[in-house]
Amino acid sequence: MTVHHSAVLLTDNADAPAHFRSHQRSHQARGWPDIAYHVLIDRNGNVYEGRPMRAVPDTATNYDPTGHFTVMCEGNFQEQRSSAAQVEALIQVLAWASERFDVAPRTISGHQDHADTACPGAKLQRLIEGGEIRRRVKERLAAGGVELVELCGADGKHRVEDIEAGRD
Ligand SMILES: [Zn+2]
Repeated sequence: MTVHHSAVLLTDNADAPAHFRSHQRSHQARGWPDIAYHVLIDRNGNVYEGRPMRAVPDTATNYDPTGHFTVMCEGNFQEQRSSAAQVEALIQVLAWASERFDVAPRTISGHQDHADTACPGAKLQRLIEGGEIRRRVKERLAAGGVELVELCGADGKHRVEDIEAGRD
């Protein structure tokens, strides 16, 4: 399970869906089939589906992500701190994936643990290297895990409209 950032500053969370669309466009312009990552998380802790989970993710760096579950937190964590809500959502997503795909929390790593990159940014990597993320994922699993509720179709569309209007 590998954690990434977009390296694009996110100051107003209402801009997050537009950032994701922009990443998807630029990734597809590279010839990739979709946005590189399986799951995307905005600053308010909203969780978005990216590339289908069964598909191998992509990376612009030199490592083979086959078998990796990739989560991208929107922001540039070289420059800004991740919010508490964003980190909490990251914990929930990783706990969910740990159960869903039967992978141990000890496999949680940052992109820079696999390739020459600053991703996911020093301020987020610190939480991975320091063990906080792994510890909190284990605690969450011990407390009964996480059930993700999927919003599709009109429900999903309305949720994104609320996010873009600054209501969520
Ligand atoms: Zn990355």
